[in-house]
Amino acid sequence: MEHIVIIGGGGTGAALAHDLTLRGFEVSLFERGEFFSGTTGRHHGLLHSGARYAVHDPVAARECIQENKILRQIAPQALEQNDGLFVAINDSDLQYRPEFLDSCRSCGIPATELTADQARAFEPALNPALKLAVRIPDATMDAWRLPMHFLATAKANGARFHRYCEVVDFHKSSGTVAAVRVFDHKTHREYDVPGDLFINAAGAWAGRICALAGINLPLQPGPGVLAAVNGRLTNMVINRLNRAGEADIIIPQRGLSVLGTTVWLANDPDTIKYPPEHVAKIIKQCTEMVPSVKETAIHSVWCAPRPLIVQEQAQDPLRISRTFDCFDHRETDDLEGLISLIGGKATTLRAMAEKTVDLICKKTGRNIACRTKTEKLLHYRMFYKGV
Ligand SMILES: Cc1cc2nc3c(=O)[nH]c(=O)nc-3n(C[C@H](O)[C@H](O)[C@H](O)COP(=O)(O)OP(=O)(O)OC[C@H]3O[C@@H](n4cnc5c(N)ncnc54)[C@H](O)[C@@H]3O)c2cc1C
Repeated sequence: MEHIVIIGGGGTGAALAHDLTLRGFEVSLFERGEFFSGTTGRHHGLLHSGARYAVHDPVAARECIQENKILRQIAPQALEQNDGLFVAINDSDLQYRPEFLDSCRSCGIPATELTADQARAFEPALNPALKLAVRIPDATMDAWRLPMHFLATAKANGARFHRYCEVVDFHKSSGTVAAVRVFDHKTHREYDVPGDLFINAAGAWAGRICALAGINLPLQPGPGVLAAVNGRLTNMVINRLNRAGEADIIIPQRGLSVLGTTVWLANDPDTIKYPPEHVAKIIKQCTEMVPSVKETAIHSVWCAPRPLIVQEQAQDPLRISRTFDCFDHRETDDLEGLISLIGGKATTLRAMAEKTVDLICKKTGRNIACRTKTEKLLHYRMFYKGV
C-alpha cells in the first residue's frame, strides 16, 4: 500500500486524508500548528451557492453549487441551511439583476426573485429602501466543524495526524522526492518521514513548501479582513445584488454576524497585518444592506490569506478565479513525487481532494473510483473518541 504524506492540516488536507483512506492508501498528515490554524479556521463561514461568482467566474460558480448540494448530504450537522438573499438597494443593483439571473440559470444555481415586502418578511432588518431580492441556496457553515468531520472519518479509516509538526525540508534522490524533514514543535526534535508521494496542501503557504523543494508555484496569498458584530442581525446570508466586490456579505454565525470581506495581494502569509481602514469600509457597506450594522458593537476583527492561483489575465485580486488546480511537479518542474493543490474555496474542499486523488490513483496505477460524493461523514466529535 502506497504511503501518501500530506503537508498542511487545513480543510484541503482534511478532505485529502478522507478521500485517500477511502481509496485504500496509507496516509500521514503533518500540520505545523493546530488543525485549521491557517486560513480554514478564519474564513467567513459561507457555504457558497456559487451565485457570487456566476457572472464573472462561472467555473468556480459551477464547482460551488455542485459541492453545496453534496455537503448538505454528507455533513448536514456542520451547516445551518438558512439560504441567502442578494439584495437590490439602488438603481445600479437593479441594472445588474438580469445578468445575475441569467448567469445563475446557466450555472444551475436556483434563484427566485422576491418583492421587497416578501424579502422583508424573512429579514425585517433589511434597508427600508430595498427594491427587491433574489433568494439563492447559500448557507452558513461552521468553518472548524465541517473539515473536522473529514478528519474524524479519515482517522476512523486509519489516517495518522501529526499536529505542531512542520515540514522544514525535502530529501530528493535521482529527481524524486524521497522524504520530508519534519520539526516537531512539541519535542523540538527533527526527523525524516519517507513516503511514496507528497501532497502540498499548505494553502497560502504552499509557495514556501515548493521553495523548500527548489521549485516555484504560481501562488499569491490574497488576504482579506473580516469583522464580527454582536448578535444575529439576520438569519439568512445577505449579499449585495451587484458585481461581486468588497464588503458585500453578512453571514449569521451562531450569536454573531460576520461582515466582509476585503482583498489585496501579499507576499508573506506570516506577516500580514490588517489595514484598519478596511473595517470602516466593511461597516459602511454592510450598513447599506442592514442599517443596524452601524449601531452594533464590534465583537472581533481578523484577517486571513486566500491561496490564489496566479493568473496573468487577472491583475485585480477580486477577478482572480476562485477555481482550484493540482500541479504534478513531475510535469511542471521535472520533480517526481510532489503534487501541489491550491486555489479553491472551503466550499469546494471535497472536489479539490477528488481531483488530486484521481491523479494519485493514475500515477500509482490504481483504478479505484471516488466515493466521497455519497459517503456520509462521521460527526466531528468522533475525532476525539479514544483520545
Ligand atoms: C477572508 C477570507 C474569507 C473567506 N471566506 C470563505 C467562505 O466564506 N467560504 C468559502 O468557501 N471559502 C472562503 N474562503 C476561502 C477558504 O478559506 C480557503 O480557500 C480555504 O480555507 C483554504 O484551505 P486550505 O486547507 O487550502 O489552506 P489552510 O487552511 O491555510 O491550510 C494550510 C495549512 O498548512 C499549514 N502549513 C503551512 N506550512 C506548513 C509546513 N511547513 N508544514 C506543515 N504545515 C504547514 C498551515 O499551518 C495551514 O494550517 C475565504 C478566505 C479568506 C481569506
